[in-house]
Amino acid sequence: MNDIYEKYDLKQVINASGKMTILGVSKVSDSVLEAQKFGGQHFFEMSDLVLKTGQHLAKLIGAEDGVILPSASAAIAESIAGIIGKGSMYHVYHPFSDKFTDREVVIPKGQNVDYGAPEEVMIELGGGKMIEAGYANMCSAEHLKMMITPQTSSILYVKSHHAVQKSMLTIQEALDVAHDNNLPLILDAAAEEDLYKYINMGVDIVMYSGAKAFSGPSSCLVLGKKPYIEWIRLQSKGIGRAMKVGKDNILGLTRAIEDYVEFGPESGDSMKTRLAPFVEQINKINHLEAKITQDSAGRDIYRASVTVDKNSPIDAKELIEKMKVDSPAIYTREYRANMGIIEFDVRAVHEEEMKTIIEKITEIMR
Ligand SMILES: *Cc1c(COP(=O)(O)O)cnc(C)c1O
Repeated sequence: MNDIYEKYDLKQVINASGKMTILGVSKVSDSVLEAQKFGGQHFFEMSDLVLKTGQHLAKLIGAEDGVILPSASAAIAESIAGIIGKGSMYHVYHPFSDKFTDREVVIPKGQNVDYGAPEEVMIELGGGKMIEAGYANMCSAEHLKMMITPQTSSILYVKSHHAVQKSMLTIQEALDVAHDNNLPLILDAAAEEDLYKYINMGVDIVMYSGAKAFSGPSSCLVLGKKPYIEWIRLQSKGIGRAMKVGKDNILGLTRAIEDYVEFGPESGDSMKTRLAPFVEQINKINHLEAKITQDSAGRDIYRASVTVDKNSPIDAKELIEKMKVDSPAIYTREYRANMGIIEFDVRAVHEEEMKTIIEKITEIMR
């Protein structure tokens, strides 16, 4: 299939950056592709397919209900719309009507992040009015509570490495504030991988981007309590129609989640084993020092952290840019480049590609 790259004059890409949307997030397994193929080549009563795959996954994980949507972004917008409308068909057809006055969505300020698009845009897309709680560097339960008014419809919590972690209230604290005030807590867990934790805590709506932790197709799994999921499903007759998910991806994500529940992700130990020879090779290159480090958010993910020393003729940023120029373009994690550090995430990188990376870096550093 390399002719696709040739036909459209595209660069091949080695993705050592992690689950990045700008590179296409992840690669699906043959098992997932098979399910997508079946979906693509058959017909279904679509509302039944949506209902039954959602219920199946909810049961598998122990949630009351679930639904597959095209993206976590759509899930944020549709959750907010669903809660504002509370099942009203008038609202589905007139989602921005003045008749619905309770539109405020409270979010900790440090969680109004831009993950590729701002959380705020998705809130507004769902007809919500964003109310930030706390400050850029802190948000306590008290901060969250004081922003609640009679017009508050929900609280949105973003569990993500993009968000401020320092002095941030916990999910449990946000949940307590929400439930003490008879409000649902919406949890954006787009890049999280624990399918059980938040549902078991009693979070009302949780969303997982399908292509991130679960290496599914472009999609999103939303789990939660029954009325909320029903209200979200209703959106397919309104704003949700602009965010439609295909039968191929519904079946692909369903299989990806089933496989994930059965086999789990690659373990941290396996990553460490695969990284060891890579780090050893990097350490042989002048001006570079590599070590294996754990994910900063504490997930069971290990990466190679490569420091470019002060005497190097090119700095980390230049090295990062040079790796992307030719085909295959090598993408790394760049978050700490200003400190001279380049990180390599190998979850989607196989052995051959690791060799290519070493060769490329050796060539650039010469
Ligand atoms: C990736 C991400 C999203 C968006 O997910 P999509 O499925 O691409 O829409 C939302 N929130 C957070 C925190 C993310 O990391």
